[in-house]
Amino acid sequence: MTERSTLVSKDRRHVWHPFTQEKTAPDPIPIARGEGPWLYGTDGRAYLDLISSWWVNLHGHAHPAIANAIAEQATKLEQVIFAGFTHEPAVRLAERLAGHLPGNLNRVFYSDDGSTAVEVALKLSIQYWRNREIPRHRILAFEGGYHGDTVGAMSAGRGSGFFEAFSPLLFPVQRLPFPHTWHDDPDVRAKEDKALVALDKEIAQHGSQIAAMIVEPLVQGAAGMRMCRPEFLQAVAERLHAAEILLIFDEVMTGFGRTGDWFACRKAGITPDLICLSKGLTGGFLPLSVTVADDRIFDGFLADDFDHAFIHGHSFTANALGCAAALASMDLLEQDDTWQRISAIQSTHREGLSLLTGHPRVERTRQTGTIAALDVSGGGRGYDATIGPKLKSECLKRGLLLRPLGNVLYLLPPYCLAADELRNAYDTIYELLTGI
Ligand SMILES: *Cc1c(COP(=O)(O)O)cnc(C)c1O
Repeated sequence: MTERSTLVSKDRRHVWHPFTQEKTAPDPIPIARGEGPWLYGTDGRAYLDLISSWWVNLHGHAHPAIANAIAEQATKLEQVIFAGFTHEPAVRLAERLAGHLPGNLNRVFYSDDGSTAVEVALKLSIQYWRNREIPRHRILAFEGGYHGDTVGAMSAGRGSGFFEAFSPLLFPVQRLPFPHTWHDDPDVRAKEDKALVALDKEIAQHGSQIAAMIVEPLVQGAAGMRMCRPEFLQAVAERLHAAEILLIFDEVMTGFGRTGDWFACRKAGITPDLICLSKGLTGGFLPLSVTVADDRIFDGFLADDFDHAFIHGHSFTANALGCAAALASMDLLEQDDTWQRISAIQSTHREGLSLLTGHPRVERTRQTGTIAALDVSGGGRGYDATIGPKLKSECLKRGLLLRPLGNVLYLLPPYCLAADELRNAYDTIYELLTGI
């Protein structure tokens, strides 16, 4: 047996992969290394990573600046208990994040991944009201929102439709219609009006019991890169503010340049009360997340008794290696060069989508910053769409790592991707759609 087939057969014997039906899934592809936007298989085949390895990678694979920062930190301090202790990378990162976030989003609570960042935001919201002795327990979310795979995050994201098996465990979350829109959508206003009417009604009926609303701002990722207009989110934020309902932005996917600005909240001109960040935080190198709270929320936990404190924490809270990686990634993000690349990706997406708009199988093209998406027609809709796996394997054959969400094809590349590589990818997609 070759080295590759040994690795695959051992994988098939001992490893359990995420989001995978192990009975029917094709063999996993063993990857030996990555460089820039490219991944290289153990057989030497190259794959262009157009999904940033599940939306985490910002500056390319194995970026030397981040790799070195981690290596250097590992020789100094890898981890220390974060209750009663602190360390420089965590403090510097918190200060820098606060500097890039709007308003008084100044208090950084560290955890491990997007799901835990969401759990923290939900728990902070509930306890904030409890500490004030005001009983607000209800949570609002949008239809289609996805917030992670832990129980609270699943409850908030129930509308994404992934969690039927666990429904007996989930707590109730009120879901409102989401006005998903695309280029040249004639109905966008009507959809937005309908969503706002539903929100007004919910607030009129239950406003004084609602603790918070959790929102993926501008782009709902896992639901199929469903996008809304900033004006709509502003209207939502105004209503929530007037009703004193906390606004949680789940920017686990949209943070760190994805939408063409540092954060979707900045792009939309909205300051939420809480924001969750993870995927791109370390440039895609290590699992780390933050929930950043407005000063007012932090102050709501100050008291002379322990009962008012936020009694929550994880073994690896503020892991020093993760913080060092995040600081190195922020160094790169603060360079003009990175924003020029981001803007080049945005304009290449525009060209690419207008090319694809002419294709008979393509509908509902849409773009927010470095995220481009479209629906492929004629093969069903939703996650069960038969077209999805077919598209994925045809792309892989041509060296493109794309992972359609059902019939939704999207491109969410690392910022180091060159414009001509992206242009070639669009040409390949056009050809491939013709043959499928
Ligand atoms: C991926 C994602 C999560 C969950 O993050 P994990 O790191 O996978 O736990 C939460 N919210 C959004 C918007 C995401 O895209």
